[in-house]
This record gives sequence, structure tokens and C-alpha cells, in this order.
Amino acid sequence: MFFLRKRGPIIRKRSEHCISRANIDEDALKVLYRLSTEGHISYLVGGSVRDLLLGRQPKDFDVGTDARPNEIRKIFRNCFLIGRRFRLAHIIFGKKVIETSTFRCQPQESETTNGLYQAEDNTFGTPEEDSQRRDFTVNGLFYDIKTFSVIDYVGGLKDLDKKTLRCIGDPNIRFQEDPVRMMRAVKFAARLDFTIDRASRKAILKHHSEILKASAPRVCEEVYRLFTYNKSSEAFHLLWELTLLKDLLPELDKHIHTAGGKHALLWKILQSLDSDPSSECASNGLRTACLYYTVFLEQLKHEGAHAGHNKMNLPHASRNALSSIAERLKIPKMTFFTAATILDLQRRFDELPTKGSRRFAHFVRHPDFLEALALYRIVQTAQGHDLSKALAWEAFFNEEWDAAHRHIDEEKINPESPEAVDPEAVFTVVAEDAPAKKPSSNTRRRSKRRGPPRKEHASDHAPHTGHSEAPHSPSLPVHEHETKRSHHE
Ligand code: ATP
Ligand code: MG
Repeated sequence: MFFLRKRGPIIRKRSEHCISRANIDEDALKVLYRLSTEGHISYLVGGSVRDLLLGRQPKDFDVGTDARPNEIRKIFRNCFLIGRRFRLAHIIFGKKVIETSTFRCQPQESETTNGLYQAEDNTFGTPEEDSQRRDFTVNGLFYDIKTFSVIDYVGGLKDLDKKTLRCIGDPNIRFQEDPVRMMRAVKFAARLDFTIDRASRKAILKHHSEILKASAPRVCEEVYRLFTYNKSSEAFHLLWELTLLKDLLPELDKHIHTAGGKHALLWKILQSLDSDPSSECASNGLRTACLYYTVFLEQLKHEGAHAGHNKMNLPHASRNALSSIAERLKIPKMTFFTAATILDLQRRFDELPTKGSRRFAHFVRHPDFLEALALYRIVQTAQGHDLSKALAWEAFFNEEWDAAHRHIDEEKINPESPEAVDPEAVFTVVAEDAPAKKPSSNTRRRSKRRGPPRKEHASDHAPHTGHSEAPHSPSLPVHEHETKRSHHE
């Protein structure tokens, strides 16, 4: 780093880079300009500069400034300071948040009982110091609103050109300070199609087990971020190759080895998820079900062997398959139950739907039907099977949907009809698959609830960016008799 300091930053003028203000969020621009006119340094920082230089749409726009948090608060009425040690300013525009932080420096290294692990970084610093405390060179670039130039203290521009993900500083130290950076390396390499440089790769292979020091919620959040941008197959493969999966989800890692390593069906399932239309808005439940589908199959075999002549306990198989990820990552209950339900429902697709059948009409009203069908389609594609059954179910769902909405429209025209549909019931759904006997305590809790369970979706783990990753999937209205039945169940 010393040679960089002597030479000063590399500055790319407006004419030498592709960042246009037209591609910067208008509220981020407002913040940048306002800080600048108040006499402060005002930079766009982090991933947004990286993405703009790569011609990608940034997920969020963060601002860095030399203004102190209290000064930022005085400038913006729509500003909230968050964090106790290091105060960050959240400048609010409706649902959007522009995170604005004062430049800070890398905390002093201190060996504690926890090694180099850093619990916080909270000292103000210069722009150069701020760039050096960041994780990867491509994440350490600044865009200056005053000169419209890109400022590079860390060699990020060169690495962007070479599509290389390189740690700022010594990766052995940086990964020990914050082991989640190893997962971030995997995420960015997969997402951007970059190569992790040799030194950082070696450091991950050496320090992978440090990931166990990171807090479960952070790790859980990063695991689900690996599914974003339709790159889950690359991301989990890299996580496995770099031996991080062994620490995070040892049972899944073991399963991959026994299922053929790089030839395991899991990779094909993840590839199929990445290219499935449901991928962009998949819930974390569906993602978990994809990740654990092959473990579930193994568990089914095991349950089958033990059941003998008795009926197999399907919910038991799905819950057993998911127990390790639930325990290790402390995934939200809603994610767990959605994943388990989606897995349990797979057997229902073995039959072809027949028109007029109340049983099938009832099934397509299940709140998780569409995601269960998505998993079925994903697995069939991964196995190279034909999709005729999946298509038949999709067509059946569409017919039921059209019929139900025609019915509601008619009721609107003639509200006096004795068959009028209670609008409250329109999105009420039936928890039909709750086991009839001896429900587990969690299932009991869920089936007692009136109305639909809260639909779990990807934004449960979305970063706090003010945008949701997953819209609700549509579900069919429920016939009156079905609503009543669900209350009895
Ligand atoms: P994304 O597109 O996923 O938001 P990002 O690069 O913006 O990617 P964020 O998690 O939003 O990632 O973080 C913003 C910036 O903060 C990063 O670009 C990086 O400079 C810095 N940063 C985030 N996490 C760390 C970390 N653990 N260690 C060092 N710097 C970090
Ligand atoms: Mg970001």
C-alpha cells in the first residue's frame, strides 16, 4: 500500500470513465450536491461506483463525506442517525434510504482472545483511510460529485479491468478481522463473474473455519444473498470449493461428497433455479428447498426403509432434512416451514390434475402451491425430465384462477346473490397439508391461526435497502366450504 500512498490516488476524469449522472439515483444526487454546496467532500462510494463502472444497475447508492454525523443531521431534515458507536446517517426519501457515512479509518489492530476479530470500527478518517478500510479493491472506489471524476486509492480500477476480486491489504489479516468477508468474496466473484486473486483464495483456504466466529444472523443473510442475481449455482460451488460450506453446513457438504462432488445433482438443481422464471422473486423458503432437495430425497429413502409396511412420515423427512440448516444458520421459522411444506407437497405432482376434481382444485389453493410447483419444475428440468406434468398443473392453476375471478366479478355485479363471496375470504387459504394426527407443536400453532399464514418471501433476508426482493405470489381464492373446513382443521 505504501507505493500507492507516495504516488497519490489514480484519478480518472469524466472523459475517461463511463459514469453518467443520468445513471445515478436522483435522491442520491440530491444528497451528494447538498453536501458539496455546504462545503463538504461528497463522494459516491462502495458497490454503486463499482457497478456503474461495470455498466450494471447498482442495488443501492451510498454516500461518503467528511461531514460529521451531527453536521449531516443539521443539513438534512429527513435524516436519522443510526448506530451507537459509529453513527451512520440514513437520509430518507419515501421508502428509499440513502446511507451517508462519515469517512472513517481502519481500526487499530489488536490481538484479543478472539484473534484479530474486530467487533466494530468507529474512528473518523480521511477519504484515503476510508478506502483502505473497505473489503475489496473494486469496492474501494469513489466518484466525486464536484469534479465528476473517479478516485482510486487502492488499485480498484486495474482490478475492475482484470475482473479480479482482491482484498485491500493482507487477506490473511482482513479475513480474520471479519470472516464474513470470505463469504462476500464468494458472492461478488459469482455475481460479477470475477476471479478471486491467488492470495485471497489461499487465505480463505487457510482461515475458512474463522467463519464460525461470525454472528449467525450475518452469516444467514450472506447465505441467502448467494442466491441473488441468478448466480446461486456458481456461488455455492465456490463456497464448496473454498471449503467454507464444510464449516457453514457440514451435513450438506458431506452429502455433496457422497453424491458425486462436482457431479452431484444439487448443482444442476441450482442451475435450474437460476434460469427458472421464479428465480428472481423466489422466497428464501423455495431457495432452501432447492438447496436441500437432494438431502430430502436421501431422508425419504431412510424413512422408507424404516417405515416397513407402515405409511411413511413425510413431514418428518422434510423437517429432518432441514434441521441442520435451521440449527446452524438460525433461519427464520417462516423460511423453515415454507421450505418443509414445499418439499412435502412434491409428491402431489405425481398425479395429473383432472378437470372438475375438487381435490385438485383444493390443492392449487394451497398458499405454497406456486412455489411447490416451481420446485417441481426446477427439479424436473435439472433431471432432464419432460415438463408435461408441470405444464399441466400450471394450466390447471390458470383455469382455476380464471374461473375463480370470473365468479368474483359476477358476484360484484350481483351482490345480492346468496352465493356472494365474502371478500375477506378471497385470499384465505387452506392449510390442507397439516398432518391429521399428532401435529407437531409448530404445525398446531400454524393450523390454529385464522386466515393464511404470513407468506414468507425473499425480502425477509433482504438487505436494508428499502426495496423488496420478492413480490407475493398470487394465490387462488377459496371456496366458502373450504374456508370453513380450514377453521375446523
Ligand atoms: P451490493 O451490491 O450487494 O450492495 P456493495 O459492495 O454495495 O454490494 P454493501 O454490503 O452494500 O456491498 O456494502 C457497501 C460497501 O461497504 C462495500 O462496497 C464495501 O466498500 C464496504 N463494506 C461492506 N461490508 C464490508 C466489510 N465486511 N468489510 C469492509 N468493507 C465492507
Ligand atoms: Mg450496497
